[in-house]
Amino acid sequence: MPSLLDRYGRPLRNLRLSVTDRCNLRCQYCMPEEEYTWLPKGNVLTFEEIQRLVAVFASLGVDKVRVTGGEPLLRQDLPALVRMIANVPGISELAMTTNGVLLREHAVALRQAGMQRVTVSLDTLDAQTFRMLSRRDDLPRTLDGLAAAREAGFTDLKLDTVVIAGLNDHEVPSLLDYARSIGAELRFIEYMDVGGATQWRMDRVVSRATMKERLQAHFGPIRALPRTDSAPAERFQLSCGTTFGIIASVTQPFCASCDRARLTADGMWFLCLYAVKGTDLRELLRNDASDAEIAGAIAAAWRARGDRGAEERARTPDRQALAPQSSLRQNPHLEMHTRGG
Ligand code: SAM
Ligand code: SF4
Ligand code: SF4
Repeated sequence: MPSLLDRYGRPLRNLRLSVTDRCNLRCQYCMPEEEYTWLPKGNVLTFEEIQRLVAVFASLGVDKVRVTGGEPLLRQDLPALVRMIANVPGISELAMTTNGVLLREHAVALRQAGMQRVTVSLDTLDAQTFRMLSRRDDLPRTLDGLAAAREAGFTDLKLDTVVIAGLNDHEVPSLLDYARSIGAELRFIEYMDVGGATQWRMDRVVSRATMKERLQAHFGPIRALPRTDSAPAERFQLSCGTTFGIIASVTQPFCASCDRARLTADGMWFLCLYAVKGTDLRELLRNDASDAEIAGAIAAAWRARGDRGAEERARTPDRQALAPQSSLRQNPHLEMHTRGG
């Protein structure tokens, strides 16, 4: 495998593939506004274009693809796309992050198409909190979606929970109990000041240290597990054997080992969650660039990569939300739901 390294020696291995910027929820930490600027439909990459780009990325060292969005299950015929990506030589891990609302309808087809792992975002077990957090009444469908995923054979299930002070932080122990009860591994995520999180405030972030304290008070001693890869979550274990993760992007950024990049549904490629500028791969695709030319553009951008966005944010004095709503309207590529979490 060719070794493509950025300025800090980080390889390109992990591609987050946003397949749509649309979503059926309106999570407070991601899409709290009433109105959004959507990507023009004609700009959204076709399945063939996506497959071609994934193959080019694979030729440069990418071996993990995570399908995301927006809500990926809103993309028409997603299983067909999954099958096409699964067939790309070199892609050994194919996973998806979803809010789970539509999993009951799609889990079996996704599994049959070659999707290997599913992560479901679940922030609360309380119907009222779910409604407040996402402006939709879909907790029962999300939980049923999780059951459907297990029935379809997704045994390696993960749950992602964004923890927000005063909103769902009191549920940290019960969410972990729930994850354990369904055989899933839960990852608690610190509330990040990404584009889209216009209501972000530092005092709403529940730090990894606080989460650990609360879990320890409830469950007893917690043991840190050794790190095995560049995954963002640090893993821990309760004395009963239950494992869980914490993604401490705000208080303990992990940019030093970041091998991830993000492709939006309209073919903009971003080297960091916080990057303002991306590389327009759609333009190359639609102007008849060869695979070698596209690979050359990707390789040049990755070699020049010096992004360490979360670390820079951590050094920002008087840290506020990243981008005001007006700039997100003008440039929807800054939105988390567009670039894919
Ligand atoms: N709609 C799908 C979902 O929610 O799972 C996939 C896309 S969503 C943008 C991907 C992940 O980003 C979710 O797990 C979500 O919790 C996370 N996310 C969005 N905004 C965030 C924020 N401000 N801080 C931390 N995580 C965030
Ligand atoms: Fe919530 Fe995911 Fe939709 Fe963002 S993209 S609003 S995190 S479900
Ligand atoms: Fe990677 Fe950027 Fe996130 Fe740091 S902030 S871990 S460089 S995506």
